[in-house]
Amino acid sequence: MRLSRYFLPVLKEDPKEAQIVSHRLMLRAGMIKQQTAGIYSWLPMGFKVLRRIEQIVHEEQVRAGHIPMLMPTLQPADLWRESGRYDDYGEEMLRVKDRHQRDLLYGPTNEEMITDIFRSHVNSYKDLPLTLYHIQWKFRDEIRPRFGVMRGREFLMKDGYNFDLTKEAALHAYNRHLVSYLRSYERMGLQAIPMRADGGPIGGDYTHEFLVLAETGESEVFYDSAITDLSFGDRQIDYDDVAQCQSVLEEFTSRYARTDETHDEAAFHRIPEERRRSARGIEVGQIFYFGTKYSEPMGATVVGPDGSRVPVHMGSHGIGVSRLLGAIIEASHDDKGIIWPEGVTPFHVGIVNLKQGDGSTDGACEAIYAELKSRGLDPLYDDREERAGAKFATADLIGLPWRITVGPRGLASNKVEVTSRRSGDSVEMSPRDAVGRICDIYRPILGLPAPGS
Ligand code: ATP
Ligand code: MG
Repeated sequence: MRLSRYFLPVLKEDPKEAQIVSHRLMLRAGMIKQQTAGIYSWLPMGFKVLRRIEQIVHEEQVRAGHIPMLMPTLQPADLWRESGRYDDYGEEMLRVKDRHQRDLLYGPTNEEMITDIFRSHVNSYKDLPLTLYHIQWKFRDEIRPRFGVMRGREFLMKDGYNFDLTKEAALHAYNRHLVSYLRSYERMGLQAIPMRADGGPIGGDYTHEFLVLAETGESEVFYDSAITDLSFGDRQIDYDDVAQCQSVLEEFTSRYARTDETHDEAAFHRIPEERRRSARGIEVGQIFYFGTKYSEPMGATVVGPDGSRVPVHMGSHGIGVSRLLGAIIEASHDDKGIIWPEGVTPFHVGIVNLKQGDGSTDGACEAIYAELKSRGLDPLYDDREERAGAKFATADLIGLPWRITVGPRGLASNKVEVTSRRSGDSVEMSPRDAVGRICDIYRPILGLPAPGS
């Protein structure tokens, strides 16, 4: 993309309404525009990052054997009357009437609807296990929408639902979700720690929230610092292997890590003092096993091996897709702007032309731009008639992880500069090597072909 033809409405001044850095930077970098409290338009660059996050979530869910689909945002109230949640949900639910005076609601989540789909089409235990998911907008009429996309009223969520014959099989689905979530967050450049959360009215130990540590987080958390040394890395996992998934769960949940709702002072104090931490965190996902809570009242049963009908065991598993943009920025920025991790960056590399209109710099920039695109990368070429200082300020604000700077002085000796946004370090090299360097960085992330192949 050429910046002169893009739509990137950056703000010079800090917007007054933004209380936290991610909200401020998303507004300043022209990523979102608030339309009314907690409801945002996603401007092109914000939309691009949202799509990248969505894509990672899809890839990791499909890898785990989960099946994508799409349910509507509007739901009939009757389904929620069956589960008993229509009245329980309270003011957070946005209720609407259609022209025939039928009660609808803008879905805050989809347990009822997916259970309805299941009971309409699945009849035998032989069709299990089954895990369906979608990425769809949700609406919760939050009492205090704030912090930009972190606590919106309309927000994008991935929600997945597993259906299994037994509790054991459902817990394997739970473990698969835990593993796939660990992989997803790591690909986004985030450390999200699974913490034991509150099972709510259903109780039980089978729920974990994933938290990104950040001062601005809304949750209070307590953990053993040893847990922050864990990473999933690039290990291979067979999602059908029950023992393997269980061992990942054990590895990542054996250290003390809890939200304030389940915090246990006595257990916390058994951790050596130097490893005890209390901090704040942003909830970016939650997994949940809830047994037959919905299948029983809603009649989601299958014919079991012995011929009798049994309610299925279910769980639901959510990732806050739109909230993740805020969480990533909270975890990765400096005083000049955003620092995107390579896995989610809206553009892979910026090209800054220091002397727009100069034949040789324009030509070199065009060549680099074309070559990067032909190699499967998505560069942003700052070809505006602006001073170098303004171009650098924009580049720092929007936070592309890599920048290639092209100026007449360097070009005289066939050199351009490659700069890391994170470290600020610059290295001079030929335009050809610069393209090669950027491709090397993204090859494993994008699965690009090896050089010369
Ligand atoms: P919270 O405690 O933050 O209100 P929740 O526990 O009610 O969230 P879940 O039902 O677990 O939310 O939804 C799954 C995920 O969706 C959450 O982990 C979070 O990342 C995201 N999410 C929930 N509410 C919002 C919101 N108002 N705005 C943006 N993302 C949200
Ligand atoms: Mg939650």
